[in-house]
Amino acid sequence: MRSVLISGASVAGPTLAYWLARHGFAVTVVERAPGPRPGGQAIDIRGAALAVVERMGVLDQVSAAATRMRGMSFVDAAGAELMSTTEETMTGGLVGGPDIEILRDDLTEILYRPTVDDVDYHFDDSITALTDGPDGVRVEFERGAPETFDIVVGADGLHSRVRSLVFGEEAGFRRDLGVYVAVFTTDNHLGLDHWQTFHQTENNMVGVYSARDNTEARAMLGFESGPIDIDYRDPDAQRRLLADRFAGVGWETPALLKAMWSAPDFYFDSMSQIIMDGWTRGRVALVGDAGYCGSPMSGQGTSMALVGAYVLAGELSRTGDHATAFAEYERKLRPFVLKNQRLATDTPGERPSFEALQAAATGISLEDYAAGR
Ligand SMILES: Cc1cc2nc3c(=O)[nH]c(=O)nc-3n(C[C@H](O)[C@H](O)[C@H](O)COP(=O)(O)OP(=O)(O)OC[C@H]3O[C@@H](n4cnc5c(N)ncnc54)[C@H](O)[C@@H]3O)c2cc1C
Repeated sequence: MRSVLISGASVAGPTLAYWLARHGFAVTVVERAPGPRPGGQAIDIRGAALAVVERMGVLDQVSAAATRMRGMSFVDAAGAELMSTTEETMTGGLVGGPDIEILRDDLTEILYRPTVDDVDYHFDDSITALTDGPDGVRVEFERGAPETFDIVVGADGLHSRVRSLVFGEEAGFRRDLGVYVAVFTTDNHLGLDHWQTFHQTENNMVGVYSARDNTEARAMLGFESGPIDIDYRDPDAQRRLLADRFAGVGWETPALLKAMWSAPDFYFDSMSQIIMDGWTRGRVALVGDAGYCGSPMSGQGTSMALVGAYVLAGELSRTGDHATAFAEYERKLRPFVLKNQRLATDTPGERPSFEALQAAATGISLEDYAAGR
């Protein structure tokens, strides 16, 4: 039985783990967090990615956990409404469209659950070294004992450790889009009912939307800026940066800045893309944001991760030769990835249109891969 180590247990990781285990691989997942990580925005599952969750048998659960947003409004610094619509939302686009919007952490939990019996999860650990040899990849970990695997896959996101160990420094692949965003859970103290409310200033945007059937809310603080030096391992430094940046901004901002300090799932990152000529090297591959992050501005990061994991697992299951599988993975997925990454950059400053999103999201055929094979 061939062994695969996957780094990262968010969206791409558990999806790949599910399909590889199903195809008879021995799968280990190493995740830096102590469990499936909470937090994140409402994200969208569209087009081909809907077929992937359906084939995993979790479409009903995903639909049941959908955010079911009704619309959004914009308010001024005093909270007076400037506009309101029930036709679209900031995070999900068209209301009542064919896509499913779900909190990132709810999706992770749904993808993780069907894998727990067949996949060996090592939480609270991380890869420190990879040596690719003719018979396998020897892997060293922060905590666990070294082990050798036939294949290693980085599903460890925008700041992928696997990518930096095997392909080189992040800076060589990262394209920053000049926007930074923080997201965290807070009380639904505005009493929002499946609703999003935003306040925008020249370079800053503050938003709150109700989550999990209005029992809580997610707050979002976004701003435009040239490159800033952020320590991705230091959430308090990130919070200080936001507190400075949003000082003096009106509406609910002071209350949200206060809540940010005690939020259990504070998340902050730059909106960036990862652009690489190749996602595989030797016995190592990248999947999802690690290889081809689209950024939240594409609206397709999660769908690309789902589809990429499905295609990679499908190719590995077809052949005993990882080199052939990796070549096919790159060949079949690249046009889809390019289309979807372009969504973030084709219309600068504007969200992609519904038509553009659907065209990109359905820009791959999964017919090659029989369900459940
Ligand atoms: C907590 C969190 C919040 C997010 N919030 C948003 C958001 O608000 N908006 C948005 O558009 N996107 C957000 N994302 C990114 C979004 O989930 C991805 O764009 C998309 O779903 C693709 O998923 P992925 O599995 O490829 O990567 P990611 O979802 O980024 O997952 C990467 C996983 O790898 C783990 N990891 C990272 N480094 C290591 C390491 N060295 N060793 C082991 N494990 C490691 C991470 O903890 C994470 O579980 C968030 C991701 C996370 C983890």
